[in-house]
Parts: sequence; C-alpha cells; structure tokens
Amino acid sequence: MTSAQVGKTEILNNILAYFIHQDPSPILFIQPTLDMAESWSKDRFAPMIRDTEALKTLIRDPRSRDSGNTLLHKKFPGGHVTMAGANSPSSLASRPIRIVLLDEEDRYPASAGTEGDPGSLAQKRTTTFWNRLLVSASTPTIEGESRIDARYKQSDQRKYYVPCPECKEHQVLVWANLKFDKTDPTTAHYVCEHCGCVLTESDKLWMIAHGKWQADAEFNGIAGFHISELYSPWVKWSEMVASFLKAKRLPETLQTWINTSLGETWKEATDGVDLSSLLNRKENWGRIAPKEVLIVTCGVDVQDDRIEAEIIGWGVEEESWSLQYHVFHGDPAGTEVWKDLDNLISQQIAHNLAVIYGFPAHV
Ligand SMILES: [Zn+2]
Repeated sequence: MTSAQVGKTEILNNILAYFIHQDPSPILFIQPTLDMAESWSKDRFAPMIRDTEALKTLIRDPRSRDSGNTLLHKKFPGGHVTMAGANSPSSLASRPIRIVLLDEEDRYPASAGTEGDPGSLAQKRTTTFWNRLLVSASTPTIEGESRIDARYKQSDQRKYYVPCPECKEHQVLVWANLKFDKTDPTTAHYVCEHCGCVLTESDKLWMIAHGKWQADAEFNGIAGFHISELYSPWVKWSEMVASFLKAKRLPETLQTWINTSLGETWKEATDGVDLSSLLNRKENWGRIAPKEVLIVTCGVDVQDDRIEAEIIGWGVEEESWSLQYHVFHGDPAGTEVWKDLDNLISQQIAHNLAVIYGFPAHV
C-alpha cells in the first residue's frame, strides 16, 4: 500500500522481469482496464525488454512473423506473460497462472463483467501451483472499501524505519512530524520523534539509504509493505506541504491527497461518530450567551401550522452556540405567530447583544 511517486509500478516491473529471467513461469499482469494494459505493454513493458540485456533475447519482437507474441501476450522460454484488464473478464480467464501481479487494485471495477471481483478471479487461477505468488500494489481509496488496505491489514504490516542523523534512533516518517509555516511551504522540516532535532530535505536520502523494513504484526504468509510520499526521493517535503495546503480546501481534493500522498485510506466523515462521546462534549450555557459570542443571528423556518426559530451565537472562526430554540404554533397567514417572533428577536440575548437583521457580508 503506497502513495504515488514512490516507484510502485517499477517494483512490479522488476518482479515480472525477475520471473521472466530467473524463474520462468506463467504470469498474469493486471491493470485496471484493458486500455491501460495496452498502454502499459507499449510504454513500460516494451522499453524494459528492449533496454535490459538479460531480457531482450528472451522475448521476441511481436513484429517478427513467427514470434507468436501479441501486444498483450508474450512468450519466453519456460513461460509467458498475459497482460489483462480488470474490466475484461475474458482477458482474465484462461490457463493456470503461477504469478499474479495486480497494479492499482483499488481502481479495479467491483466486478469483471458479471464474473466477480477481478483480484479473486485471478487468484483462483493460481490454485494448482504450490509455489504460487500474488503481488498487489496500489494507492488506497476509502476506508472499508479499499482492497489494498484489506490486504495490508491481513499482512505482517511492515513499515520503513529510518535513522535520525543526530541520535541514530529509527522511526517511521509520519505527516504529524513534518512541521511548516502554513503561509510558506519552503519552511517544511521534519522533527525527530526521539531527540526533537530538525531534519531537512538534505538529510532525507541518507535516512532512506540507511533504513530498514520492520513488521508490526506477525507473519502469516503475507508480507505487507506501506510507504508514503514522505520517503519519495522525487518529491520534496516542501512540495508535499504546498500540495497539502492546496488540497485541504475541499474534502474531495483532500481525499485524493491523503490517498496519493500519504498512501492512507480516507475515512468518510459520516462514519465513526460515537454518540456517547458526542453527548459527553455537550455544554450547558443556559440562555446567557457565552462571552465568546460576538454576533447573534436567528434562523426561521416557516411551516403551514407553525414557525420555528433558532437563535445562534457566533464567535471567532465561525464557532457557534445554539442559544435558544422556539416553536410558535399558529397559522403563518395570521398575525399571532409573527408577533411571537417579533418578541423573540427584539430581546437582548446577553451582554448587550441583540439579534441582527440580515447577515454580515462574510457569512
Ligand atoms: Zn533524533
């Protein structure tokens, strides 16, 4: 489970190249769509074969007449690789496969046609091999729906520990320890969780070079690895901060940032609200506005048989206090309920605050 920009697809390419060269087997390489499988074959696979001495003699050019190779199917001595799209059940269904490589599994459709989960379909093809291997590499998506997150949780959950150049203690790089002035991303620096020293971009490569993978859970046959953009040799910490400051304005862009920069799942704001902890935070301020209240507004809802009104006090940064709630029963076509409302909004709430009519420009 990774962020973007950490060489994920290149790792899958290296695994593939290893098996072609060192341990030839039937291999299935799956991209989210058939179109993406075709582009990957042309833009990533073909150059790798062309530029790697050990591989180029093993796979014949599809343009030669008797190669038996197509864009999505390549033979080599002792095996073959089929490139498939998770959206195409026919491309997933064929011979038994020993090695299955899943690229960007979280972007796969829920079902390949009507056949079911693409990753599970591919996995079924490996059952006859005792030495089967499945590798899935993906940026995660939403908590509870993310396939790579589910796989990672079943694994031994390795994280990459890097030493501090000052105190030499190891730690996992986490966003919370990247400090910055939010008006200036170039101030980004990392604070060591052990000795509190300030680490800068120029320390990063040394730290990565001297790091080690360490598992948080017991190994049960699945090795899991997590890494984020904080470790990327290609993305500076200041660039991460700049993209964070831009992304945090909207939940949608923040989700993308959490998924692709931190390599973490996005937790939907609607779940995880614990009612009792919410109730515990309840404060009672009676009918007197707390001193933090700067202005008071009244929202009015007119129904066929009543008027409902809520008086709210507003403070700095739009912190708000619900001060009063009233229901005036009666026909809004008559005058009675409107008199009640007039009485309500002409009262003083507290410390010389009255309900304002209309809203200030910034609300
Ligand atoms: Zn330190």
